Amino acid sequence: MIRLLLWGLLLYFGYRIVMSLTQPRTSRTAPPTNRENVTTTHKDPVCGMYVSEEDAVVGNHNGQRLYFCSRTCLDKYKENLDHTQT
Ligand SMILES: [Zn+2]
Repeated sequence: MIRLLLWGLLLYFGYRIVMSLTQPRTSRTAPPTNRENVTTTHKDPVCGMYVSEEDAVVGNHNGQRLYFCSRTCLDKYKENLDHTQT
């Protein structure tokens, strides 16, 4: 009979330990990672302005991604490319 009681106590404490271990895990997943909030900035090759990735106008040149502050800078860049290549 005492053995049964001991097993019951062991199960009870084992349950408590598992619960205390699982609780901080759930709270750890709750806060969002800071990496997602960090906005990467790119330098506009035309005017030299730094623009954040979400505000930038993205252009493509030889498979390379280029970031411009506005559409006009993108057009200027393309114009310059045409002048240098021809
Ligand atoms: Zn610009």
